[in-house]
Parts: sequence; C-alpha cells; structure tokens
Amino acid sequence: HIPVITIDGPTASGKGTVAARVADRLGYHLLDSGALYRLTALSAMRAGVALDDEQAVAQLAEHLPASFANGGILLASEEVGEAIRAEEVGNCASKIAAFPRVRQALYALQLGFCKAPGLVADGRDMGTVIFPNARLKVFLTASVEARAERRYKQLIGKGISANMDDLLADLQARDERDTHRTVAPLVAAEGAYILDTSDMTVDEAVEQVLHWHTL
Ligand code: C5P
Repeated sequence: HIPVITIDGPTASGKGTVAARVADRLGYHLLDSGALYRLTALSAMRAGVALDDEQAVAQLAEHLPASFANGGILLASEEVGEAIRAEEVGNCASKIAAFPRVRQALYALQLGFCKAPGLVADGRDMGTVIFPNARLKVFLTASVEARAERRYKQLIGKGISANMDDLLADLQARDERDTHRTVAPLVAAEGAYILDTSDMTVDEAVEQVLHWHTL
C-alpha cells in the first residue's frame, strides 16, 4: 500500500512550496495537479481553442503531451515551467477546471503519479476526489490578505510589477470559482487536518505536516 499525503487549499496558500519540501524530505514523488490544469489551459490558448468549448478542451486534456522530469515541465518537448505560472494561465486554468469532462480527462493521469515509495499530491481535490484513501490529508489555508501579500512579494522578486488591489480581486475571483463550482469544489476533505499558515513560515508548515505524517 503506497502512502499518499494530500495537500489541498486555495490559490497562493503556499501548498505548492510546502508539498515540494515535504516530498523532498520524505523522498516521495510529487504531483502538482494545478500544473495539469495550467498545461491544459496553455495548450488551449496556444491552439486557439475557445475556453468555453468543454468538449474541445477535454480532448486536449486527454491527450496532453506533458512530461515531468527533474523538476522541469515539458509540453511537447518545450520547457513551459515558467509559462504556466503566468496569472493569465492560472485564471484560464481555473475556468476550464470547472468542466467535469476536463476533470475526468485528467483523472487517470493523476492516479499514475502514485508510485513507491510514496506521493505528496497538492491541489484542490486531492483528498476529496483523487486520493480519498490517502494516509494523511491536509487542508492548507491562509487569509486572502496574507496570500495576496505573498503573491505580491513573489512577483516583485521576479521583477514583475504588481498591484495589490488587482491581486486581491484576482484571488477572490478564483476562490469564488473554485469554491462554488459544481464538480470537485474546494473544500477540506473528511478527516483532513486544517493548517492556517497566515502567521507561519514555510519551515513551520513543513514541520507540522511531517509531524502529522509520523502519527
Ligand atoms: O494550484 P494552481 O493555482 O496551480 O491551480 C490552477 C487552477 O487549477 C486552480 O485555480 C483551480 O481552479 C484548478 N485546479 C483544480 N483542481 C486541482 C488543482 C488545480 O481545479 N486539483
């Protein structure tokens, strides 16, 4: 039985960073499920597929020519790790993620990441839909202000100009969509530990998850 740790939570809650660090510490595989929705969105944008065409977007998701190796993300042999992080791609990802057929198309691909010695999976529905029998489930959250501030610092650090009000509005719109969609809405899984990281460092959050993992 392969141990799985799920880390779900809202946009910019820090779950990606925490998941990567926990996976690293345990020597487990990592599934960044948001990247799959972002890759699908990027493919659609590049192929000129309308983002409201559920059937066409689902088809792209089903045949996603993506590969993950050594921390890199390839889409048809092009490195797109940076490109999929763009705000616009994230917003489009959140739109197409509301389509049941798109989620269905990405289901098997996600299960395929579950390999020995273990997996840390981060996203919105890892504990509720994809790995409901996970050994440890964490719901990682932070206030919308704390998340907007982290995002702001991240962007400024990369030399990208950012506006706090726009970031707040963006986060709220995405939270709203992710929480109120009919399929796989963002909600803490049954049995999940809730971790509010508003006043925590990344190190503290990582240690807390590792501690729960030993229980
Ligand atoms: O986590 P990240 O911001 O990369 O995810 C991008 C978008 O993909 C989210 O806003 C969410 O709508 C969608 N997503 C999802 N289910 C997941 C992971 C991401 O619906 N498991």
